[in-house]
Amino acid sequence: NNFADLNLAPEILRALIESGYTKPTPIQAQAIPLVLEGSDLMAGAQTGTGKTAAFALPVLQKLMPFASSSPSPARHAVRALILVPTRELAIQVEASVKAYAKYSHLRSLVVFGGVDIKTQTPHLRAGIEILVATPGRLLDHIEQKSVQLNQVQMLVLDEADRMLDMGFMPDLKRILALLPRQRQNLMFSATFSAEIKKLSAEFLVNPKLIEV
Ligand code: AMP
Repeated sequence: NNFADLNLAPEILRALIESGYTKPTPIQAQAIPLVLEGSDLMAGAQTGTGKTAAFALPVLQKLMPFASSSPSPARHAVRALILVPTRELAIQVEASVKAYAKYSHLRSLVVFGGVDIKTQTPHLRAGIEILVATPGRLLDHIEQKSVQLNQVQMLVLDEADRMLDMGFMPDLKRILALLPRQRQNLMFSATFSAEIKKLSAEFLVNPKLIEV
């Protein structure tokens, strides 16, 4: 039960050591191997369990082959899309992703509503592998053609129950319809309501179930 046993790249392990992490939390120990083997995942986990690293670390690991130090935007397509309900969570999740990606040459960005969209567009156009977004603002960027999602191979829905509570289902459906069909889906939720089960049945393929 050690990060070194989880088949993570040295670049990622180095960032974890720097963050002061020594051992994976229970959700990380369960989720990371399942995501690395390619399974879809339905995870029940509250904030504070280490759920962010449980999806962020295997996402980074799976994207390592696409890491590039080239400044060319063409070398940096969005490969992982992480959807979250609020701007606070978006900022927090992207800060974690950035810290874990520090030595990897994988780039991340966060976009959320309530701020001038024009300030976000140049960063999107510069090219990034991991996009953390709230659904409404992502749709705005899609409409303005400032982001392409045709290379997305991993989708994370974080705090999916809150996304449904906040009425994001129609936005989610519009976004998911634009993603490649062949992709890995990870869903995290603090609760397992009937709606969450319906969402999971709709978007996940043979998901592995984890509860902590
Ligand atoms: P989360 O549940 O993802 O919001 O994480 C809760 C807090 O635990 C955050 O401050 C993380 O930086 C921290 N954390 C996550 N995983 C670990 C770990 N394996 N060891 C120590 N701290 C961790």
